[in-house]
Amino acid sequence: MPPPLPPPSPEAQLWFLTKLQRLFGEGDFTATYKFALLISLADLAVELGADDGSELILANRQIGERFIALYWQHSLPYSSGHPSSAPAVLVQNNGAQAAVVSAISTFRANCAATSPQAAARQPGFRALVSVVTSTVSAQPLNYLQNFGGGTDEFLYERAGAGKVRLKPGVAYCLRRFYPLVQQLARTHWIDHIKQNSRNQSILGAADDLEDFLFSSSRQSLQVMAAGLRKLDGTKCFYCGNAVSTADVDHYIPFSLYPRDLAHNLVLAHPSCNRSKSDTLAALPHLERWLERLHDKGDALAEIGSAAGFQTDRLVTRQVGAWAYTSALSGRSKAWLKANYYTSIDDSYATCFD
Ligand SMILES: [Zn+2]
Repeated sequence: MPPPLPPPSPEAQLWFLTKLQRLFGEGDFTATYKFALLISLADLAVELGADDGSELILANRQIGERFIALYWQHSLPYSSGHPSSAPAVLVQNNGAQAAVVSAISTFRANCAATSPQAAARQPGFRALVSVVTSTVSAQPLNYLQNFGGGTDEFLYERAGAGKVRLKPGVAYCLRRFYPLVQQLARTHWIDHIKQNSRNQSILGAADDLEDFLFSSSRQSLQVMAAGLRKLDGTKCFYCGNAVSTADVDHYIPFSLYPRDLAHNLVLAHPSCNRSKSDTLAALPHLERWLERLHDKGDALAEIGSAAGFQTDRLVTRQVGAWAYTSALSGRSKAWLKANYYTSIDDSYATCFD
C-alpha cells in the first residue's frame, strides 16, 4: 500500500469549498439525486475514510445502498395533516417521478419490511440495489461535476467497473466540512421539493418537511427504547440516576451525524438530553460509551436490528473517532452535565487508539 498522503493544505481546503459552492450555485438540478449523492459521499468518507489526504475507492453499489436508505422514507405518501392537502408521494424530479423513488415504492408495496435493514433480508432486495445503483451510475455520478458550462472532476473519477475514486484530499475535506455539506445538500433538497409545482397540492402549508425527509422514525425509536431498558436498565446514561420516561438520545449528536446507528443510541433523562443538546459528551461519558460498545456490541446489534437501524459497531466507532477529532481541531467544548462544559484535548483521541 502507498504511504498515506498528508492532509490538504489550507489553500486546497478553501479551493474545495469554493468549488462546492460553485457546484450548488451553477449546477443543474432536475432531480434531487445530486443532493443524495453528496450526502452519500460525505457519509461514506466519514465511515471509511482516514484523517489524511489519501484517495478513497467506493463501490457504486455502496452508494446505491445509501440512496435506498436516504429515499426509503420518501417513498411513502407524505401527509401534511391539513384538510386542504391530499397525501401522496412527493415528486423528486422535474419530469416524471424520480426512478429511485418509484423503484423503492414498488418494492415496499410488495414487502412488509419497515426499514432498509429489514428489507435487506427480503428476496428482491438485491435486484432493488442493482436497479438503484444503475440509476445512480448513469445519472448523478455522471452529472454532479458538470457546472458553469463545463465538467470539473474535482471530487471523483471513475475507477474501473462499478467504482469511483475520491481524489486525494477529497475524503479529508468531506470529513472536515461534513456538517456544512450535509446542511447545504439538505436545504437545497427541501427547496427542490417545495419548488416543484406538482408537490403544491400535497404540501399545502406544511412546515415539517425536513422532519419527514430526514428524521428518525418515532416507531423505531420506541422499539429501541424498550430494548435499551432491558439491556442497560432504567437509568440515564449520563447521570446514572433512575429514569421513568426516558428519551432515546444519539450519543454522537444527530445534528453532527444524522444517521441512526443502533450502537450510538442511549437512554437519557429528557432534561439531560436537552441540556447536552447538540454537543459532544465529555471524557467520562466517552470512556463509558466505548466500554459499552465493546462489552454490549452484539446485544446492541440485536436490538438495533429489531428496530430497523444500522447495526455496525465498527462504523459507529469510526463515526465517534471522526466526531471527536473534528471537535478537537475546531476547539469545541464537551458537555459534562447541566451547564458544565470542558475543553476537548488530545486525551479524547487516545481513547480510540
Ligand atoms: Zn440524567
